[in-house]
Amino acid sequence: MKRILLFGAPGAGKGSVAGLLSARMSCPTISTGDLVRAEIRGGTETGRLFQQYTDRGELVPDQMVIELLSKRVSAADAQHGYILDGFPRTPAQAEALSSLPVDEELAVYLKVPEETLVNRLLARLTCSQCGAIYNRNTRLPKMDRICDRCGGEVSERIDDHEESIRTRMRVYLRETQPVIDYYQRKGHLLTIDGNGSVETVFERLLGAMA
Ligand code: AMP
Repeated sequence: MKRILLFGAPGAGKGSVAGLLSARMSCPTISTGDLVRAEIRGGTETGRLFQQYTDRGELVPDQMVIELLSKRVSAADAQHGYILDGFPRTPAQAEALSSLPVDEELAVYLKVPEETLVNRLLARLTCSQCGAIYNRNTRLPKMDRICDRCGGEVSERIDDHEESIRTRMRVYLRETQPVIDYYQRKGHLLTIDGNGSVETVFERLLGAMA
C-alpha cells in the first residue's frame, strides 16, 4: 500500500493536484480540511468547535484531527493506498502518521511564491459538496455556481478572506514548514514548481515521479 503526502502553503494547488492524482492512481484523496468542513456542516458540537478555529485561519487541535484522519484511513477504499491533502500539518501529526504503517511513502511539496498564493485564494471557488476547486478568473464551472462534477453549490470558502489567508500563511510557516523539513531530511521529499495551470503542475509531478 502506498501513501502520498501533498504539502504546500494554502493555495499551492494541493487539492487540484490531488484530484488528478487520485483518478490516475485509483485511490482516494483524504483532505483533512474536507473532513473538518463536513463536521462543521453536520452542526455537531465538534463541528461548532472546529468552526471557531477555521474561521480564524487557525489549526484545529492535533488530537481531534488525528482522530478524524485515523477513522478515515481505516475505511475500505483506503486499504490499497491513499493521498493525503493537508495532513500532517504539525510535528505531532507527523508522528501520529508514522504509526499508521504503509509499504511505500512519498512526500510531495508544491512550491509557489506567497503573492501568487494569496491571489489564487482570493479568486478560489470551491464546491461545498465534493471539494472540487474552481477559479473566478481562470476556471469557472460550466453552469454558474454549480459544480461540473457533482452538481453541488460552488462558492467562496468562508475562510478565503484576506485576514484568514494571512493567518493561515503564518501558521503554515510556523507549524508546517518544520514538518516539510523533516520529510526533506528523511530523503523522500519531491519538490515541484507549483506555478502554472493544474495540468502543467500535474505533468511536472508525473515526470518527477517516473
Ligand atoms: P484546508 O482545506 O486544508 O485549507 O483546511 C481548512 C481548515 O481546516 C484549516 O485552516 C484548519 O483550521 C483545519 N485543518 C485542516 N487540516 C488540518 C490539520 N491537519 N490540522 C489542523 N487543522 C486542520
